[in-house]
Amino acid sequence: MTDRKNTDVTQTYYCPECSNSLEYLHGCGSVSYFCNTCKKLVSRNNMLTFEEMKNKKLKIKDNK
Ligand SMILES: [Zn+2]
Repeated sequence: MTDRKNTDVTQTYYCPECSNSLEYLHGCGSVSYFCNTCKKLVSRNNMLTFEEMKNKKLKIKDNK
């Protein structure tokens, strides 16, 4: 199993659905990110870095 990218806990990640920043959760040896807006966990494969979030917002703008 390979992660798409390494998780850097010092970096802020963003929700793929609402683009809000995710809350870092950890416990039981696993790391997860929670979106307080969507009220759900976001997997490491789905969460966005700042750059990805920015690019996504630009793409959404372009489509309208
Ligand atoms: Zn969200």
